[in-house]
Amino acid sequence: MKVLVINCGSSSLKYQLIDTAGEQVLAKGLVERIGIEGSLITHRARGQKVQQQTEIPDHKVAIKLVVDALLSPDHGALKSLDEIAAVGHRVVHGGEKFADSVIINDEVMTTLSDCADLAPLHNPANIIGIKACQGLLPNVPQVAVFDTAFHQTMPPQAYIYGLPYEYYEQYGIRRYGFHGTSHKYVSQRAAKLLGRPLADLKLVTCHLGNGSSITAVKDGQSIDTSLGFGTISGTIMGTRSGDVDPAAIPYIMEQAGLSAAEMNDILYKKSGLLGISGISSDARDVEEAANNGNQRARLALDILCYLTRKYIGAYAAAMGGLDAIVFTAGIGENSVTIRNQICQGLEFLGAKLDPTKNNTRGQEIDVSTPDSTVRILIIPTNEELMIAQDTAELVGKKVN
Ligand code: AMP
Repeated sequence: MKVLVINCGSSSLKYQLIDTAGEQVLAKGLVERIGIEGSLITHRARGQKVQQQTEIPDHKVAIKLVVDALLSPDHGALKSLDEIAAVGHRVVHGGEKFADSVIINDEVMTTLSDCADLAPLHNPANIIGIKACQGLLPNVPQVAVFDTAFHQTMPPQAYIYGLPYEYYEQYGIRRYGFHGTSHKYVSQRAAKLLGRPLADLKLVTCHLGNGSSITAVKDGQSIDTSLGFGTISGTIMGTRSGDVDPAAIPYIMEQAGLSAAEMNDILYKKSGLLGISGISSDARDVEEAANNGNQRARLALDILCYLTRKYIGAYAAAMGGLDAIVFTAGIGENSVTIRNQICQGLEFLGAKLDPTKNNTRGQEIDVSTPDSTVRILIIPTNEELMIAQDTAELVGKKVN
C-alpha cells in the first residue's frame, strides 16, 4: 500500500511516500519557510534531488507542490494520485482521547481542535496540514498518528502529579509523554532483534536527540516516560532543562523579574546542553568543546549521561527487571562516547557494553557483551515508517 506520510510544523512540512509492503521510501522531501520569504521545497525520488524556490504562502500551496513533485514525469514517484491509498499525519497531542491511531472524520477533527490548547505550537499546524490534504485528496482516507498515544497505557500512579487533583480534572494537568511513535517503533524492532515476543519483554527505550525521552516499556506497553505535561522534564535536552525543582521556577521569576512566557522560553529554548555549556545545543559541538577542555561542556554531557542512567535504573525498578536498553535518535544512534558514558555503572543491573561493538553509528546492532544479561541495542528510529504502517493497518481494516 502506498501511504503519504505528512509531518506538518507551523512553517515547515516533511513528507515521505512509503510503500508499506516493501517498507520502501519512494519519495521524500521538505517544504521550508511556509508563509515566510524564501520558501523552498526539496524533493528526493528515483535517486534525484530537486529544489525549487517559489512563493509558498500557506500549507495548502505546500501540499499542492508536494503532489506536483510526486506526479512529475522527471522526478516523481507516481503516475496518478489514485495510487495514494491513504495519508498518515503525525499529530503531536491526542490528549486523553486517543490511545491509538485513528481514521480522521469530523468528530476526530473536533477533538483535535479541543486538544490544541495542550500543544499550542504543534496541533494547530497539524490540523492545517490535515485540512490541506483533505482539500487536495478528498477521496483518500486520512489517519492521525499521535506522539502521545503510545503512552496512554501508563497507570495513574505514573501520570498523576502530586498536585491538587482538581487541576487534573479541570485543566488536564498530567503526564502525557511524547515521542510515542519512536518508542513504539524501536520496541517492536527490539523484540524482532532479540527474537522474543514483545509481550514478554521489559525494555527501557532511550530516545536521545535534540528532544529526548526515556520510556519504560513493559510487555509492549509504555508504563512510564520521562516527558510529561509538556516536553521539558526528564534528562536534559538540546535547549530544554530536563528535571528542575518546581520551587526554583517562581523564585527565578521573582529574582529576575520574568513573566511566565519569558520563563517558559528559558526552560524550552535556553537551557539544557546550550544553557549549561554556553556553547551549543548540538551534542557534536558540545562533545568537541569538552574534548578541547571546556569544563562546562564536560559538565553538560556529564549531566545528560547521569540523568539518563538514573532513569534507566528507576525504570528497571518500576518494571521489576530489565531485558534490554535501547538507544535511538540522533545522539542515541550516533554518539559512541555518550552511550559509553551512560552505560558506565549499569553493570550491577547486568548491562555490559562491548566497547568495540559500541564503536558504531546509525545501524541496528546489539552492542552488549556475550555475558551481559541485559542486552544493549542501537536501533535507528523510523517514525515515518511507523506512521505509514499504522495508517496502512487502519485503512486495510476499513477496506476488509
Ligand atoms: P535528532 O533530534 O534525533 O535529529 O538528534 C539531533 C542530535 O543528535 C543533535 O544534538 C546532534 O548533535 C546529535 N548527533 C547527530 N549525530 C551525532 C554524532 N555523530 N555524534 C554525537 N551526536 C550526534
